[in-house]
Amino acid sequence: MAPVLIYDDAPLGHDHYAGKGDFLRAVDRVRSGDAASIPVTLTTFHRLGDLARFAAAIRGRTLPPVLPVLDVRHEPQLVDGLRRHLREMQVALRDTGVSLGEVHRDADRVLSDFDRRIRENPAARPNLLRLLGVVCDVAFIGPHTFHMDITNHCNTNCTFCGLHSPLLQDPKKPMLGRRFTEGWKGNKRDWEEFCNLIDDLDKLGAKEDILFNGEGEPLTHPRAFDMVKYVCDKGMNLTLFSHGQTVREKAIQTFVDNDMHMLYWSSHCASPETYVKMQPRRKLAEFDENVKYMRMLVERKRKKNNKPHIVMAMVINADNFHETEKFMDVAAFIGVDFVRYQIMHSCGDSMNSLLMSREQFEIAKAGVERGKKKAEAAGIKVIANIDFQLKSCEQTYELPEDVMSFHWSHDLYTQTGCLVAWFFSRAFSDGLVSFCCHDKIVGDLRRERFRTMWTGPDYQRARLNAKAFDPNYNIDMTYAGCGTPLLAGDCAWCGNYEFINKALEDLETNRWKDVLRRVPLA
Ligand code: SF4
Repeated sequence: MAPVLIYDDAPLGHDHYAGKGDFLRAVDRVRSGDAASIPVTLTTFHRLGDLARFAAAIRGRTLPPVLPVLDVRHEPQLVDGLRRHLREMQVALRDTGVSLGEVHRDADRVLSDFDRRIRENPAARPNLLRLLGVVCDVAFIGPHTFHMDITNHCNTNCTFCGLHSPLLQDPKKPMLGRRFTEGWKGNKRDWEEFCNLIDDLDKLGAKEDILFNGEGEPLTHPRAFDMVKYVCDKGMNLTLFSHGQTVREKAIQTFVDNDMHMLYWSSHCASPETYVKMQPRRKLAEFDENVKYMRMLVERKRKKNNKPHIVMAMVINADNFHETEKFMDVAAFIGVDFVRYQIMHSCGDSMNSLLMSREQFEIAKAGVERGKKKAEAAGIKVIANIDFQLKSCEQTYELPEDVMSFHWSHDLYTQTGCLVAWFFSRAFSDGLVSFCCHDKIVGDLRRERFRTMWTGPDYQRARLNAKAFDPNYNIDMTYAGCGTPLLAGDCAWCGNYEFINKALEDLETNRWKDVLRRVPLA
């Protein structure tokens, strides 16, 4: 009699291949003494040992404590590595009643593609591993971008900011989606926790983009410069976001001396008048002062190796929509490398006065288009996210009223699935780890190291359920009465659209989209 096929140790995963209800039947047969076979598919080839142990346990057998392992991340060529691994596993499983099946043709094709692409471009390995992980339902490597809030203190109050805006109502009470109360604004990431986190990211191979950003102004952390050095000394790329008022002599020297990868200047305006309108706490004269120091940074870095690259960022809203073109003039005057335009999302009704009307949107858009031409002449790159946002937001004006103008992804990921959990993760300044840049808590660094969390069962369940995007398999990711479930209304203005869209595009280019499995973990 042919052995019973065991595709997965979870019912939904197994039934996806074998048909609804087959898992229980298969387990019963193996329990009654039938031999089991594990087909070698994209979702099994990297965990054959675990599945063999599962099948053996059903038969009442215990396998040796150590079984051969396929180290996908470090295997130079996966097809050869898998062949060797299968031979080793076959020896280990001899006389156990558990065997390995054929290598499925999808696995053969995708792994051969993977090997070819690595041969063509070895530098593509980290992101190809993430993409391979997407189709294999597992994370083989750490995230591309790790967003780390090192403090939630800020010494300004941008009107559009979801955490420090004077427009936010009743900030003393936590509210769903916002844990950020007045009393909360004193968190500073502990040095030891910081070092552990960076060391873990380094071990996970997540070196491409560490972001200091988010809840507050990073340069107000008393050890901010030590943190810059710690990350850069490990050869990891650091991107630091700042509102610019703290970028003065010492900061400039630290960035240049440490070859920091990138500085995002959250500038948002092109005139002193708009500057104080958008940051009521600041003074008119500071605008020119900020520009002066940014020019000093450009001059110093050009004398060395042009690091950090400078991105001037503008969150477009009803206060600054008329300055999108002039923003590029300021960028060219300073000599920055990139400009990033971004459309504001709301953080509650009290901030909706800042959402652009259709007319303001059109003015902003025309300014961006003219700004792009000026950017080309000045050798400045405009980050492409704005094309997606302009196109999607424009469509929202034609949709029913409950689709707000900033709902750029309002029904997008329901159709495609959310793939963020292979590419991005975030740690808030209080040690809580969020699944994406929104508030969806998946772990706590005060209790667990990131290294184990990233590959652990809670993260994996959230990863697969976001990919499936099935509301029947949603997860509560609130914490202390705040945050949101995994799949929630805020996915309509997803802050991680660039990662997800790029991954979907890459899957298409690699012709791997047809093997994308979207099966939740119950
Ligand atoms: S907001 Fe929703 S769609 Fe966007 S990354 Fe988070 S979970 Fe995914």
